Amino acid sequence: MHDLVIVGAGPVGIASGIEAKRAGLDFVMLEAGALCQSLLEYPSGMRFFSPADDLAVGGYPFPTPHDEKPTREMALNYYRKVATAEDLPVRTYERVERIVPREGGFEVYTVCSVQGTPYPVYRARRVLLCTGIWGLPRRLEVPGSDLPHVAVRFEEPQRYWRKRVLVVGSGNSAGEAAIRLADADAQVWLAVEPETLETCRFRPFVLRELLLRVEEARIHPLLQTQVVRIEPHCVYLRVGAEERNLPADFVLTLLGLLPDTRLLKPLGVPVESDGKPVHDPETGETPLKGLFVAGALSREGFIYIARNSVQRVIRAIKEGL
Ligand SMILES: Cc1cc2nc3c(=O)[nH]c(=O)nc-3n(C[C@H](O)[C@H](O)[C@H](O)COP(=O)(O)OP(=O)(O)OC[C@H]3O[C@@H](n4cnc5c(N)ncnc54)[C@H](O)[C@@H]3O)c2cc1C
Repeated sequence: MHDLVIVGAGPVGIASGIEAKRAGLDFVMLEAGALCQSLLEYPSGMRFFSPADDLAVGGYPFPTPHDEKPTREMALNYYRKVATAEDLPVRTYERVERIVPREGGFEVYTVCSVQGTPYPVYRARRVLLCTGIWGLPRRLEVPGSDLPHVAVRFEEPQRYWRKRVLVVGSGNSAGEAAIRLADADAQVWLAVEPETLETCRFRPFVLRELLLRVEEARIHPLLQTQVVRIEPHCVYLRVGAEERNLPADFVLTLLGLLPDTRLLKPLGVPVESDGKPVHDPETGETPLKGLFVAGALSREGFIYIARNSVQRVIRAIKEGL
């Protein structure tokens, strides 16, 4: 039986693995996708808003050219090098499907995410979930939202060169996508529900960049707008009190993420309305003894905050063994 299974190998899973190794624990890390799958799914070329030092884990320096803020690619490279340097026991493409409490610990059931075949069951005295909040995109519930030109993720701006793209959403991912699309010479419409762009949930620098492109007529905002239905080359909208249709080659519905509680619910761990599992903020332990949470799953939005708290979490795990 292992001392610990860590579920998820994003930045916080990696930080936890480093701490677990330094604490001398016998552990294994299970990751549903590639190493840092969540970052892999960010748009290519995306730049973090935090400086590199704030993304660094395990005391490994994260140098960037001219101290610039890291891109997704720099971060992927950095975390991969750290995981290799630490020789972390990460098993990629092993999705945890079920965790079952047993006498003295847990059984952890996994499948191969590529082929769907089950792996032998892991047994561990403690389980630490670092599964993040990336995973269940909120979908637009209108006819046509499952058409092939409608996507819930924005990955590669180049795909949209000179295409007519409607971006739906009033948060940062929608705002940033609109900016990147405009810079990739797409024709961009941005549909938001609030009355002004200023009252959307954009960070100040996203708003500033958006407004610049609106002024240059490279992004066309559609305020107080709801999507009514989507057809192959046309989107039907309600803009204020008026009905309107808009020709579009692609529709990106970037409406944020829904909390993924599929592992927690069957364990009876209470989850707050924002998806945060109830847990002790000092130790990360949930009301189910031996089950811990850390990182974005526990709503630590920034990597620099989470990397400090995993030191406390691993210490609590070690002391309780
Ligand atoms: C566009 C964008 C920009 C951001 N910019 C910043 C920034 O500048 N600074 C900052 O501090 N933060 C930033 N964040 C937030 C930051 O990315 C997260 O805080 C960080 O990724 C959290 O790390 P994590 O390891 O907790 O979760 P994640 O990075 O989400 O990793 C979770 C991992 O768990 C895996 N997983 C999930 N379910 C299972 C399962 N059942 N079995 C096995 N594995 C599973 C996933 O595949 C994933 O690899 C940004 C987020 C986004 C979306």
